[in-house]
Amino acid sequence: MEFKDLRIQVIETAISMLRSGLTVGTGGNVSVRCPDNRTFLITPSSLPYETLVPEDIVVVDLARGTYEGRNKPSIELQLHRGVYLARPDAGAIVHAHPPVASALAVSRKPLPLVIDACTFAFKDEVKVAEYGEPGSLELAENTVKALGDNTAVMLANHGILCVGDNLEAALARCEVFDKAALTYILSLIVGTPTFLKPRSD
Ligand SMILES: [Zn+2]
Repeated sequence: MEFKDLRIQVIETAISMLRSGLTVGTGGNVSVRCPDNRTFLITPSSLPYETLVPEDIVVVDLARGTYEGRNKPSIELQLHRGVYLARPDAGAIVHAHPPVASALAVSRKPLPLVIDACTFAFKDEVKVAEYGEPGSLELAENTVKALGDNTAVMLANHGILCVGDNLEAALARCEVFDKAALTYILSLIVGTPTFLKPRSD
């Protein structure tokens, strides 16, 4: 089977996403760019992550958007494809529905660089993409636009998306994101927060 090790990594990342509380049920989705740079692997639609085997992972043609495999790809196929096409540096993508960061996405408020970890995880404050229906091309376009050259973005009234050089980096970024969002919201209750500047290196 092609890309067996990468398929296993996609499954492990999806299970970690679920166990970290970054999503519930079959929500969210995980993908990785293949070494051939012509295809990417993505989690299938509506199958419990903990039951997945390598054959369940769907292979998508990056240029055409067509796919092969025994399952349908995640509904957010176009979202992942749009980001890979716009960002050749993106090696992997994790899209999740973490409750705290999603509160910012509902309020349509960007996440400033509130703690040092943010300045390593994100290039600048994380913006909120304009609303688009799940699975729509509009959602993909809005997300690519708001992501820009940053490493993360919020999807209005939906969740977050993080890119990384690899799956581990994209997932770790989601974890930093939700913790930082909680710190930010608490800091607004405590007083007037002070934010950090982006790192220059
Ligand atoms: Zn979603």
